[in-house]
Amino acid sequence: MKVLKFGGTSVGTAQRIKDVANLISTRGKNIVVLSAMSGTTNSLIEISDYLYKRNVEGAKEIINALENKYRRVIDELYTTEEFKLLASNEIRDCFNYIRSFSKDLFTLFEEKEILSRGEIMSVALMYHYLREQHVDVALLPSLEYMRTDKNSEPDTQYIKEKLETLLERNADAALYLTHGYICRNAYGEIDNLQRGGSDLTASVIGAALGAEEIEIWTDIDGMHNNDPRFVEGTKPVDELHFEEAAELAYFGAKILHPTCVLPAKLNNIPVRLLNTMAPEAPGTVIYNTLPSHRIKAVAAKDNITAIKIKSSRMLLAYGFLRKVFEIFETHKTPIDMIATSEVGVSVTVDSTKGLDDIVNDLKKFGTVTIDHDMVIICVVGDLEWHNCGFETLALDALKDIPVRMISYGGSNYNISFLVSKEDKVKALNALSDNLFK
Ligand code: ADP
Ligand code: ASP
Ligand code: MG
Repeated sequence: MKVLKFGGTSVGTAQRIKDVANLISTRGKNIVVLSAMSGTTNSLIEISDYLYKRNVEGAKEIINALENKYRRVIDELYTTEEFKLLASNEIRDCFNYIRSFSKDLFTLFEEKEILSRGEIMSVALMYHYLREQHVDVALLPSLEYMRTDKNSEPDTQYIKEKLETLLERNADAALYLTHGYICRNAYGEIDNLQRGGSDLTASVIGAALGAEEIEIWTDIDGMHNNDPRFVEGTKPVDELHFEEAAELAYFGAKILHPTCVLPAKLNNIPVRLLNTMAPEAPGTVIYNTLPSHRIKAVAAKDNITAIKIKSSRMLLAYGFLRKVFEIFETHKTPIDMIATSEVGVSVTVDSTKGLDDIVNDLKKFGTVTIDHDMVIICVVGDLEWHNCGFETLALDALKDIPVRMISYGGSNYNISFLVSKEDKVKALNALSDNLFK
């Protein structure tokens, strides 16, 4: 059994839903995970935003526009009155539910309930369409098995048990369909796995059931060797090690959600990235490949802040770094990059939340300098230190760009550079020119 996940664009129109239905109904008894139709989660966030601000009219305007979009999809999708009616009733119930929040108090809890409707609607549309096409599909409602624990991590034992029960109950089905992204938390409330979290749903299901493969279907033919939104002529990478994929996902390759690599890696389940619009393309396979002595790809992570702490007290002293790191720990702020010298340390963070407090605390230990609007450019591949020349190639590409920090040697898979936001596109292109042409 495989787990196949289809993202928002893959189910973004009636025609795309039909294409995906076609694709999944000919690939065997698999579990299919769907995201919300593209744009829906953003609209639901916007609706919630108006409701937080108690602007019920603003919320209603977006609710109505979204509902009209779904009505048009229903009109185009179904050919029989029976299934049109079944789908219309479910979608109408969802929108009535969303409207019901416009009266009283609105909190994070209500927002999560609203956000959950995106995946509930896309799955409902697909479910009824498959039924109309006489596919014997069984629905596995995520809210009945996908749960996070008190640390907001997937509760693997619970998920495994509940999923197995649901599968047993529907043992004769030809195909299983389920919601990405949405879950319940440790308190039984509706919650989600963060933006882009359907990839994690697929990975967690694959790990729980020991699936043969996890397939992430999207709108591009695999992981490209650079960000196709900023660099022309990028090419798909045929294979990646789990560690390489994790670095790329974490450092900005949007095709894969960073959290989804770990469950697959721990259970040694290959992850394949495939294109809904070109199903025959080989895509990218992510697994425990042998070292390839190649640089595979480049990615960029935006909105980075660099913090430098300089102190002559650091010279020949021990315990300085611990004190610095403890401050970040106290403020629950993860550090991405680090560079040290004998008299100072530079670190980067990807959130400015609590930055003022962090800086105030750091000032007890040294002079603090901040650089905002920075970007981490991450070069990923087999960068084990005995392999000569790769660092030079990367550095040479950046010879005309001011580099604020460099980090190498933390893993065998990456070398990272910190540059300013204005130089991001230039740096990505220069690296592609030097590394892949
Ligand atoms: P989905 O909605 O299916 O989850 P996403 O929008 O999350 O799809 O991810 C696919 C997008 O990721 C692509 O359209 C592409 O623009 C972007 N992307 C960014 N970096 C890369 C990369 N290195 N390789 C492929 N796609 C990338
Ligand atoms: N629909 C959710 C989002 O837009 C989850 C996902 O697409 O993976 O973030
Ligand atoms: Mg995605």
